[in-house]
Amino acid sequence: AAKPPAYKRVLLKVSGEALMGEREYGLDTATCRRIAEDVKGVVDLGVQVCLVIGGGNIFRGVSAAAAGMDRAQADYMGMLATVMNALAMQSALESIGVVTRVQSAIPMASVCEPYIRRRAERHMEKGRVVIFAAGTGNPFFTTDTAAALRAAEMRCDALFKGTQVDGVYSADPRKNPRAERYERLTYLDMLARDLQVMDAAAISLARENRLPIVVFNIHEPGAFTAVMKGEGRFTTVV
Ligand code: UDP
Repeated sequence: AAKPPAYKRVLLKVSGEALMGEREYGLDTATCRRIAEDVKGVVDLGVQVCLVIGGGNIFRGVSAAAAGMDRAQADYMGMLATVMNALAMQSALESIGVVTRVQSAIPMASVCEPYIRRRAERHMEKGRVVIFAAGTGNPFFTTDTAAALRAAEMRCDALFKGTQVDGVYSADPRKNPRAERYERLTYLDMLARDLQVMDAAAISLARENRLPIVVFNIHEPGAFTAVMKGEGRFTTVV
């Protein structure tokens, strides 16, 4: 018999870019559906899942700030972008029969629930997938930090970070064929070597809360489910 998954409750962070597929911006329906199916695979294993979705495919605060807009103002626009992505993922998940709730860090009463920690936890206990929108609700943060924050609040066993490649490398393996791939790293390795997988605030928060980070390739169909079963390729940060 297959061994049961090592995790009871996890958070998956998906960047906005991951939802673009081959497009240059915005959302690709087929890609959202593929990721939704992967999430369903994990739910079907009996694992409680929550999601944090980025917004970089629609709006990234830092870039607009550089172009002259006030950074905080631009960041609020970025957070609103993550709400759109959260709603798209909600539709993708519900269309394949996964029950979901969206909770936004910026209250938006007619669109979704506000973020309420205990309520989110209750949803998860009932097997619903909770999608956390609007990041932390604060400018000058990222959705990676929101992912570490929510994972800690939800007492998740691990934070799964879906990226463009199958783990953490010493450099971008798509640009540098000699980049070294790591199986296992410490939080301090990540910070000291400035490995561009998550920002330092997110890594510090994970470290303080002893929250393992599992980095895997979100573009590989079924990778989230495979990694959950201990199969496939990934890097663990502890
Ligand atoms: N953002 C923010 N506070 C947060 C999370 C996000 O201000 O807690 C803004 C910020 O402008 C960021 C944008 O939302 O650039 C989109 O989030 P992020 O860049 O993390 O998305 P991803 O790269 O994961 O798609």
